[in-house]
Amino acid sequence: MQKILNYIDGNLLEPSTGQYLDNINPATAEVYSLCPNSDASDVELAYQAAAAAFPIWSEMPTAKRSKIMMRIAQLIEQNIDELALAESIDQGKPLWLAKNGEIPRAQENFHFFATAIEHFASEAHAMGAHALNYTLRTPIGVVACISPWNLPLYLFTWKIAPALAAGNCVVAKPSEITPMTAFLLSKICIEAGLPKGVLNIVHGLGPSVGSAMVAHPNISVISFTGGTKTGAEIARVAAPMFKKLSLELGGKNPNIIFADCDFEKTVKESVRASFTNQGEICLCGSRIYVERSIYEKFKTAFVSQVQQLVVGDPLLDETKVGAIASKMHFEKVLGYIELAKEEGGTILCGGNAVSPEGRCANGYFIAPTVVEGLGHLCRTNQEEIFGPLVTIQPFDTEAEVLEMANSTSYGLACTIWTENLNKAHRVAAQIKSGIVWINCWLLRDLRTPFGGMKQSGVGREGGWEALRFFTEMKNVCVKF
Ligand code: NAD
Repeated sequence: MQKILNYIDGNLLEPSTGQYLDNINPATAEVYSLCPNSDASDVELAYQAAAAAFPIWSEMPTAKRSKIMMRIAQLIEQNIDELALAESIDQGKPLWLAKNGEIPRAQENFHFFATAIEHFASEAHAMGAHALNYTLRTPIGVVACISPWNLPLYLFTWKIAPALAAGNCVVAKPSEITPMTAFLLSKICIEAGLPKGVLNIVHGLGPSVGSAMVAHPNISVISFTGGTKTGAEIARVAAPMFKKLSLELGGKNPNIIFADCDFEKTVKESVRASFTNQGEICLCGSRIYVERSIYEKFKTAFVSQVQQLVVGDPLLDETKVGAIASKMHFEKVLGYIELAKEEGGTILCGGNAVSPEGRCANGYFIAPTVVEGLGHLCRTNQEEIFGPLVTIQPFDTEAEVLEMANSTSYGLACTIWTENLNKAHRVAAQIKSGIVWINCWLLRDLRTPFGGMKQSGVGREGGWEALRFFTEMKNVCVKF
C-alpha cells in the first residue's frame, strides 16, 4: 500500500506518531493509500524548519525566488498526467476535468505569482516639498495554509504560491480526504530545488494538525479555505492572538435567470454551474431562480439536459458526474435530498444514489438532482449542501429575486443571465456577494479579488490582494 509522507525541512518523513489514516478512492470505496496521521509535534518540526529557512528565502533576490517557482510550475505541467490521475482517484472527479481544468490551474497559480512578484510595488505619498512617506512591504515570516478536499491541488497552490512569492516560508496542510497531489507536489518541490524548509507539508486531521497550526504562537498568518463552521473555530482561536486571517468559506450561490436571457446558452451553462465537479465547488449555483414567463420552458430544457449527464467511473471520458469525495459527504448529500422531500420539494430528476456497473459498483455516486416547489427560506435553500443538488423556483419581479438571492447567511458568488445590460449591472450592484458573473460562470482572471461577504469569508485572495495579505506593511515618514 502506498504511503504518503510529510514534507518537512526538504525531506519526506513518516509522521512522528507512526500512525496513518486510510485514504479511500471514493469511486470504489476501497482504501488505496495511507495518509500520515500527524500531530502537533510534526507541526512543530515543520515550523522550526520554516523559521530556519526564512532568512535565506526572504532575502533571496526576487528574480531568483521567481525562477524556482517557475521551475515548480514547469514540473507541474510536465507531470500533468500523473497529477490529474491522482486527483481523480483521490477526489472522485472526472479525469478529464482534473486534466483540463484543475491541474493546469495549479500550474498557473505558481506561474502567475512567480511573475506577479516581479511587478509588485509599494506606494509613496509625498507631502508637498516638505516630507515623503513610503510604504515598505516585507515578508512576514512563517505562515499557515490550510485547504479543503474539493479542488485539492488547485486550492492548495492558490495559497502556497502567493505566500512563497512574497518571501514567506510555509507550513501547509491539505485535506486528509485528498492528500495525494500535495504529496506529489512535495516531490516536485524537491526536484525543482526549492530550498529545504521553505515549504513544509504536514498531513493529518484538522483537529490535530490544523488546529496546532492555528494555535502555534509563532505562526501569525493563517490562510484557510474550507467550511464556515471550521472558519469560525479558527477565528475563535486566532483572534485573541491577533493573527492575520484570510478565510474563504462556504457558499449558497444564486443563479438568476431573466426571461430575456440567451436561452440556449443559459440552460447549458446552468447545467455546468450546477453539477461540475459533482456540485462540489464553492462557486456552484445551487439556487436557480427563473423569471416566471420562461419558468416551464427553462425547467423542461434544464431537466432534460441534466438527465443526460453520465454518472459513473471518473476515469471514463463520457463521465460528467463522478464520485462524491467521501462516504461522510455522500451521506450528508443524501440526507439533504430527504430533507428537501420532507420540506415539500418535488424531485424533478435524480434524488438517489447510483451504483454503476463494474469496478465502481460500491462507490459514492449520486444522480444529479433537481428539486422544485420549495420556499426560499427553507433549510434546503439556506444551508450549504455542496453536492449535486440544486433547487429551482420562479420569480416575478427584480425586487423579489433580489430579496430571495440575498436571503442566506452566505455571500460568495452569484450568476445573472440577461441580455439587458442595464438590468444586469443594476442587479449585480445590489447582490450581496463577493463575486458576480454576468452571462458566464467560473470565468476567472487571477488578478481579480476573490472571496466572499457575510459568512462566506473574510478578506480576498488573488492578484495584488494575495500579495498584500502575505506581506507586512510599514509606513516610513521622512521630513526634509
Ligand atoms: P473543512 O472546513 O471541514 O476542512 C477544510 C480544512 O480545514 C481541511 O484541511 C481540514 O482538515 C481542516 N480543519 C478542520 N478542522 C480544523 C480546525 N479545527 N483547525 C484547523 N483546520 C481544520 O472543509 P471541507 O469539508 O474540507 O471543504 C468544504 C468546504 O470548503 C465547503 O464549505 C466549501 O464551500 C468550502 N470551500 C470554500 C471555498 C472558497 O473559496 N470560499 C473554496 C472551496 C471550498
